[in-house]
Amino acid sequence: MAEQKRDYYEVLGVDKNADDATIKKAYRALAKKYHPDMNPGDKNAEAKFKEASEAYAVLSDAKKRQQYDQFGHAAFDGGAGGGAGGFGGFDFNGGDFGDIFGDIFGDFFGGGSSRRSNSNGPQKGANIRTQVRITFEEAVFGTEKEIELTLKDTCTKCNGTGAKPGTSPQTCSKCGGKGQVVFTQQSLFGTVRNVQTCPDCGGTGKVIKDKCPDCYGTGYISSRKKLKVTIPAGIDNGQMVRIRDKGEPGKNGGGRGDLLVEAVVSRHPIFQRQGMNIFSTAPISFAQAALGGDVLIDTVDGKVAYTVKAGTQTDTKIRLKGKGVPSLRDENDRGDQYVTLVVQVPTGLTSSSKELLRQFDELTGDSLHEVEKKTGNGTEKEKKKKKGFFG
Ligand SMILES: [Zn+2]
Ligand SMILES: [Zn+2]
Repeated sequence: MAEQKRDYYEVLGVDKNADDATIKKAYRALAKKYHPDMNPGDKNAEAKFKEASEAYAVLSDAKKRQQYDQFGHAAFDGGAGGGAGGFGGFDFNGGDFGDIFGDIFGDFFGGGSSRRSNSNGPQKGANIRTQVRITFEEAVFGTEKEIELTLKDTCTKCNGTGAKPGTSPQTCSKCGGKGQVVFTQQSLFGTVRNVQTCPDCGGTGKVIKDKCPDCYGTGYISSRKKLKVTIPAGIDNGQMVRIRDKGEPGKNGGGRGDLLVEAVVSRHPIFQRQGMNIFSTAPISFAQAALGGDVLIDTVDGKVAYTVKAGTQTDTKIRLKGKGVPSLRDENDRGDQYVTLVVQVPTGLTSSSKELLRQFDELTGDSLHEVEKKTGNGTEKEKKKKKGFFG
């Protein structure tokens, strides 16, 4: 049987390196020309139509095309080649190609009123969303996380047909595998044709008599899977990482959907983020603020030394260039860190440090002290009112 078959590329009249669009175009032209509906009773046209459809089924599917390029027709004859179960799901003798090529027929039978429902064509699987929790630093520098989730896979026992091994889905007798049924009604204006999705098979064109015991006829098996997710440096809370082809399996030969992993970034005790910039506050001692000198400031890269000017006031804002979050596009392009310096008023003083401060106060005494001088030592309340000296 294999040796009688014509080369699939030859059948479609395309080059071995033809791209998908060229293959689709070639098939459309042939399918249109030889479609049984266009050539009623013409056995030769029907045979040509089947031949072209089979060639297209293989060449339009990247995986099958690769197998065909490697092993020729033997790839799908069962047994031979590394076919990995390859092609078992399709039945080329049933005359129900519309199930596989619904998208093409949808095109040329005209949009919404297409006689074959879209549910018969290859459909990409749905995308799945999940979340992964990461720390502030992991968001800044990127990380790799392992996530666990339930994923559907095509049932290996039945190759996704849903039929018990040894049996196969039967062509639906109600619609003859077309997935749609046509009613003709007589009306005052003549014969009216109505098209409906087949109620027996739900538009799939197939009915399963004996269900696969592993997947209960669904064609899918769900299992817990562990996946590694690479989180890029610079990702922000709520942003998604797309992992291609890890969503739900497609239907009728359509590809898998994608997995979308949303980053949920934990709050940081010190740092806040706005876009690529990081904001924080840093305490400096009263003496450091007054005298100036090096202070250590927390950044996502660790502590860095910063030289404060003598006489630095509290709430002074400084910028640490390049200590912010990297751009998602370029890890070397980093935002800045804005630090608010907060001068700490000393508390819990020992008697000797109190004495030193009193001496200091005497030395620097100015108009702020006038109230105190008038009222002796003054009350605590009054001292607090003397704003701007210690704080
Ligand atoms: Zn199964
Ligand atoms: Zn049906």
